[in-house]
Amino acid sequence: MDNPYLQALKTAQAKSATTSTMTLTAPDILADYDLGGVNCKLCENTGRIIQRGPGLLELHVFECECMKRRRSMRSLRKAGMEDMARRYTLENYVADNKHRAAVKDAAMRYINSADGWFFIAGQSGSGKTHICTAICTAIMRKQDSEVYFMPWRDESVELKQRMKQEDWYQAKIKKLKRVPVLYIDDFFKGGASDADIKLAFEILNARYNDTTLRTVISSEIDLDGLMRIDEAIGGRIYERSRGFAVMAPGENVRLS
Ligand SMILES: [Zn+2]
Repeated sequence: MDNPYLQALKTAQAKSATTSTMTLTAPDILADYDLGGVNCKLCENTGRIIQRGPGLLELHVFECECMKRRRSMRSLRKAGMEDMARRYTLENYVADNKHRAAVKDAAMRYINSADGWFFIAGQSGSGKTHICTAICTAIMRKQDSEVYFMPWRDESVELKQRMKQEDWYQAKIKKLKRVPVLYIDDFFKGGASDADIKLAFEILNARYNDTTLRTVISSEIDLDGLMRIDEAIGGRIYERSRGFAVMAPGENVRLS
């Protein structure tokens, strides 16, 4: 190991095993390095901060705060939702009847709350993606939390296909289980086979057990329907999204 950066990293890692220093792994730092439209003066867009210990030659490598934003932006782009995130804000969600006003109110309360899940059921075109995208980008900005955007259909297909690629699969599952904010768009779209149910339970149960994690879910299937598909999954969503579970209005929602 001749690379000074990797050596510093190794030192920092060894240190972090015994102290409260942030734990990082080389692949995390290197793979996540992405400018992603985020300009950070703190780390000069390297994503890391290297500090020298007091009077020592030893270097400590920390992940810069901006990395959360960079990972969120990358996930947003990968999900093909970057354009939606610009267009779908709470300000342009038209609340011109009681139902829409109630949906908007729940979204605003959720953004201002510190925990819990948000669930919205509704047909395609009912504005559920609009509301969830607005929530996630608001949380990303206001609370500086990392958000992972998961279009359920695409990602569940990929996860099922690549199950045997152990390293990739485990890293992906770990991310979905632990990211501070997970947005599952169109949950169970494309069906709920045994493999889908098993995958969904693994992710949602881990998130259910850690009350600091927030999960935002949109689905064409309502809570009763989810309960019928799998009681353990439906029950967990029901419990965590209490106060923030809504039905999207039936008609198409217009943008102002
Ligand atoms: Zn930075």
